[in-house]
Amino acid sequence: MAAALALAFAGGLIFGSFLTVVAHRVPRGESVVGGRSHCPHCGAQIAAYDNVPVLSWLLLRGRSRCCGEPISPRYPLTELALAALWTATVAVLWEDPAEIALGLVFVFTLLAVTLTDLERRVIPNKILLAAAIAGLAIAAVGDPSSLPERLLAAAAAGGVLFLVVLAYPRGMGLGDVKLTALMGLYLGRNVAPAVLVALLLGSIVGLAMIARHGAAARKQAIPFGPFLAVGGVVGLLAGDQLVDLYLSTFS
Ligand SMILES: [Zn+2]
Repeated sequence: MAAALALAFAGGLIFGSFLTVVAHRVPRGESVVGGRSHCPHCGAQIAAYDNVPVLSWLLLRGRSRCCGEPISPRYPLTELALAALWTATVAVLWEDPAEIALGLVFVFTLLAVTLTDLERRVIPNKILLAAAIAGLAIAAVGDPSSLPERLLAAAAAGGVLFLVVLAYPRGMGLGDVKLTALMGLYLGRNVAPAVLVALLLGSIVGLAMIARHGAAARKQAIPFGPFLAVGGVVGLLAGDQLVDLYLSTFS
């Protein structure tokens, strides 16, 4: 298992680098395949040896080689975040290869839409659609008997969030509804604790903002996607325990 965890960490760093490309290019309508990386400041092409996850950023001390402009720590932090999440996913879901495959795609997707939602207030359809197709394909091959539960959970969770958006539109939109449906597809019944965690966190942060900034905060919309993403990770890694806890408490 130690070798698998090391592989998950290394793979997370590499795919984390790809993730920053996806999160940057998809909302801008650019292709994610092909095209070398360019410096966002001066446009110079970035050499492969300056594009090694985390290491290059550390060696260059957070500045680009071409023009010396600062490189956002968002890049190494994203790579480290995906590496940590992939390692945790493999460790927790170790028994079940199909669940591991689904989990790796799922946390990649959650992290990508967190970045686009924070940066540009969008959850791109392209990312959601690609993740939905990948999730359906992996589940159909690895765990076909789970498909009815997954589709039902997608419809139910998307429906519930749609009602929430109708009742409380500020800061939430159809992108959040679609992301929640996708979470149902990946999590099955564990989407329930995931959405509860997201709504709870969103409420706490929203109330804290109002307490701190008063009426001005009410007008400010906080993107909800990152809260859904945190809920999704909780649902993936601890959903079974949370559902069991709920069932044993209330039955
Ligand atoms: Zn440059």
